[in-house]
Amino acid sequence: MRPPSVDALARSLADTGLPHPLLVDAARAAIAAGEPDSARARAQAVADLLLRPVINATGVLLHTNLGRAPQPAGLVGSEGPGSPVRYSNVEFDLMTGQRGSRHRHAADLLARASGAEAALVVNNGAAAVLLVLTVLAAGRSVVVSRGELVEIGGGFRIPEIMAASGARLIEVGTTNRTRLADYRAAVTAATDVALLLKVHRSNYRIIGFTEEVEVPDLRQLGLTVVADLGSGLLDAATPWLESGPPAWLGAEPAVRQTLAAGADLATFSGDKLLGGPQAGIIAGRASLVAECARHPLARALRPGGLVLAALQQTALAYLRRDGNAIPLWRMAATPVEALRARAGALGSGRVIDSAAVAGGGSLPGFEIPSAGVALDGDQTAALRAWDPPIIARVNEGVTVIDLRTVDPSDDKVLAEALLSVSSGH
Ligand SMILES: *Cc1c(COP(=O)(O)O)cnc(C)c1O
Repeated sequence: MRPPSVDALARSLADTGLPHPLLVDAARAAIAAGEPDSARARAQAVADLLLRPVINATGVLLHTNLGRAPQPAGLVGSEGPGSPVRYSNVEFDLMTGQRGSRHRHAADLLARASGAEAALVVNNGAAAVLLVLTVLAAGRSVVVSRGELVEIGGGFRIPEIMAASGARLIEVGTTNRTRLADYRAAVTAATDVALLLKVHRSNYRIIGFTEEVEVPDLRQLGLTVVADLGSGLLDAATPWLESGPPAWLGAEPAVRQTLAAGADLATFSGDKLLGGPQAGIIAGRASLVAECARHPLARALRPGGLVLAALQQTALAYLRRDGNAIPLWRMAATPVEALRARAGALGSGRVIDSAAVAGGGSLPGFEIPSAGVALDGDQTAALRAWDPPIIARVNEGVTVIDLRTVDPSDDKVLAEALLSVSSGH
């Protein structure tokens, strides 16, 4: 039998929604492999790689593989053709009609919300640390406790980012104990110390015989103090939550309190506990923030208008003290009884209590009481194949659907998927 033409085969796959050149690739590869029938699966594999919204039923609030903090659906790019098109005043001053600054919107609002004199937004937390070290310490030394030489997932290691910035790392103390005297000895011995860097142990804990030096004590040495907080908890008092700070937050350090305690700068992620899009924020003393903004590297690390628009929404919600408007905090603060009621209403599986976590390398060891449903066996592949894909986890041979990370507007589609999967078709 004559093999089908590439073009005819590609056209037969049009219902996948992929552009024609990608269908031609799939058709050509299938014919070359002598398996024209595989063209559809090949095209589907390409379609499956595209970014699309998914339902996160893992109970991991900041799921690194699922984009960390959830964002309002309209921002995930699912609207497609026909949605309104807009420019924005990202670098245009509407008062004067002159060129404006992209640092005026989200950055100024976040500074206001955290009590900082000024703030600067860059591409992510790693970029924030790199920029601060490059601007304030290149060619000089930076003192860090041996208990804080962290590695964050994705290959961010303090000694390596330090080397990349051109600063020299001076390690002080031991893994479990570092005292002010250790910092003082290093500062006295080296004549070129540019700053003291305090790094939050976001993703691990040291317990037992421990000692560390807090920001107010570091200040005594008369040098610039930079705190890399990572998590992006804006205020330890969580004024955006009616019920106050939840127990699972533990003693997570917050931007407002760290700056009030005397840190000159704090760096943190936009998409960890801040609940915004991927971004990095440098907040603190106006003169230092301005120095960072002027450096050529700031231009290379700057975020785009889409990110700034999303981050502005997050910052405005904080200023309104409206945790409900920040999807991460809305999910995190939902009472467990409400999750149990939703689980019962799904109509399939056994209602169970479960334990959600912050994730994203934040709050290790802390669990957030949660609820959901359990299905027998490993159903994760079938759930992943649903439209939209549903991501669940397997625990001791049981599939757990955790509702803490599912938006209630997705319960209907979730119920349909569970009914279909648990009845085996
Ligand atoms: C997460 C984290 C970073 C890196 O932030 P990204 O936004 O992931 O680049 C840096 N420092 C600390 C302490 C962190 O927790």
